[in-house]
Amino acid sequence: MSDQQIYLSRPFVGEDEVRAVREVFQSLYLTEGRETREFERRFVEYIGVKHGIATTSCTSGIELVLRATNIHAGDEVIVPDFTYPATALAVLAVGATPVIVDVSPDHFVVDVSCLRPHVTKNTRCILCVSNLGFPVDYEPIMDFARPRGIVVIEDAACSVGTCTHGKKAGSMVDAAVFSFHARKVITTGEGGMVCTNDDELAKRCSETKNFGVTGVEAGRQTFERWGTNLKMSNISAAIGLVQLTKLERIIQEREKRAQRYDDLLRDITGVEFIRLPEHVRYNHYCYPLLVNPKTRDQLIASLRERKIEAQIGSYALHVQPYFESLLEGMRDGEAVYPNSTRAFESILQLPLHHELTPPQQERVCQTLIGLVR
Ligand SMILES: *Cc1c(COP(=O)(O)O)cnc(C)c1O
Repeated sequence: MSDQQIYLSRPFVGEDEVRAVREVFQSLYLTEGRETREFERRFVEYIGVKHGIATTSCTSGIELVLRATNIHAGDEVIVPDFTYPATALAVLAVGATPVIVDVSPDHFVVDVSCLRPHVTKNTRCILCVSNLGFPVDYEPIMDFARPRGIVVIEDAACSVGTCTHGKKAGSMVDAAVFSFHARKVITTGEGGMVCTNDDELAKRCSETKNFGVTGVEAGRQTFERWGTNLKMSNISAAIGLVQLTKLERIIQEREKRAQRYDDLLRDITGVEFIRLPEHVRYNHYCYPLLVNPKTRDQLIASLRERKIEAQIGSYALHVQPYFESLLEGMRDGEAVYPNSTRAFESILQLPLHHELTPPQQERVCQTLIGLVR
């Protein structure tokens, strides 16, 4: 029993999702359709924005928004160094130049002081990342970007349910994109959602993700511009609809376990906690700790040997070979990106999901305390 595998993450799915998928199968309408429209509607109702455009992933959704805002070769898009590389890949996909910047030292997301030195006449977009579900303080960023005509997009892949001052992540920017990958807080297997209040941008995204179709008459489509296929099937959307009804419960289950970790680790030494501002309601995407970077990877390996699936927090772009070779100014990355480097090298995430039991959490904490001592 005590050497049972403890997973990092488990999707909260079951019979309700199976039933919803069965209904879609019985309808024989498997492609994008009624369930997708309903999922978009209910999702944006939750986030608090006007339009939702379902896509195949967060990555494809970011690419879609960049195309719909006509960002292309020659344009610069500011991207934080500390993120999952998909953020920068989407920028490269449209031919634009990612300008990679450091993050803040407190919870490793961008703020205005990170952005300001990197804005040039070619800056078209700031692509913020609420990485690990951590909040970004958008008001100053929007105040900075608006008068300069810079579009603010949020990679909100991990952030569904995180709130700052009562406002949901994804509701405070020009466009935000969520992920429904199975490791995120809610899932459709794979999938994503663009959220925006901009009518024109929403229309552009909807058309572009559906082959550029601008109208249908008597079953015949009109093609007016370039498009592609990033549609979300009714099958995926039906899973998403059920997941959405469970979202608050999922966050509560995570929160309860995060608090239990806090209690169990109260007296631990050699480990730092990441504190979020008072006005934040965190979605508990993960349970992160800052540990000694010299021993972090060994710590993860030792936990894994003991069947506890610990993991790093996220990536630093500047040390990934593709970005290193692609971008200039990376040679002294540690000096250019001190906070991102620290986050990349020091964060350790512990398992966090609804199936985690109190004895499992005790085992995780006792093992961790024994290893860091
Ligand atoms: C998971 C993740 C992505 C990728 O999401 P997909 O839906 O798998 O494309 C992008 N950015 C961040 C910050 C992520 O955590």
